[in-house]
Amino acid sequence: MKRASRFSPKQVFAVSAFIAATLSSAALAQTRNNEQIVEPVPRLVQSEAVLTPAPSDAVVLFGGGQNDLSQWHTVGSQEPATWLLFNDSMTVNRALGAAGSIATKRAFRDIQLHIEWSTNPVIDGEQQLRGNSGIFLHSQFELQVLDSWQNPTYVNGQAGSIYLQYPPLVNASRPPGEWQSYDITFEAPRFNAAGELERPAFITVFHNGVLVQNRSEIFGATYTAQPSYEATCTPYAHAEAIDCSGAMPLLLQDHGQVVSYRNIWLREL
Ligand code: MG
Repeated sequence: MKRASRFSPKQVFAVSAFIAATLSSAALAQTRNNEQIVEPVPRLVQSEAVLTPAPSDAVVLFGGGQNDLSQWHTVGSQEPATWLLFNDSMTVNRALGAAGSIATKRAFRDIQLHIEWSTNPVIDGEQQLRGNSGIFLHSQFELQVLDSWQNPTYVNGQAGSIYLQYPPLVNASRPPGEWQSYDITFEAPRFNAAGELERPAFITVFHNGVLVQNRSEIFGATYTAQPSYEATCTPYAHAEAIDCSGAMPLLLQDHGQVVSYRNIWLREL
């Protein structure tokens, strides 16, 4: 004897439609082929920057009385970093033209990272040309820095996105000129002795204290034709390929706009 279903056909259809819609929106929220996606638009969340001083076991990269560029050099040339120093912050140096992206002299694997940033209070561009910089974990994977206060752009390119891979879960941006914070945990990729990928990288990000990336699996290096992992790679702004299978520097992007950073510290995990 056939048992009666607890749900009517109408209810089954409604549940199926809901599951399908949920799955399709989840599929829309990430991309593996560098596609720019424009929806769904992350909802706005009001929050304040979290200004956490470096704990006692942190590696201080900038701030806390160490307001100099001694931990950084210019990517590519290995020359001293030439970003502008003002009070307790450093700023992409547009006075000199392209000062270049900078990277830490030290290399790291798995880290907890705190970093504060601010975009130009004078709005002089739109979309991707408005307060664009970026934090390249492992010198290869860009967590986007952008003035995303009333500045629509493709959602996997706005502040808090893993560039061209994941939009942020929500938009927790502060207005231009205000300090904002990222608190990040990053799990570096692992390769075996043969140079094959054993485990991809993962990233969790809090923007102004609000979760925007929840252990997102990174699909591969930003700005490659198709995101992928290579044991020998050419990191962002590098001219030549290097061994990328072990520890790698942290890199800050010069994208041609005025963006400042302060209070940068990390804990090695
Ligand atoms: Mg950028």
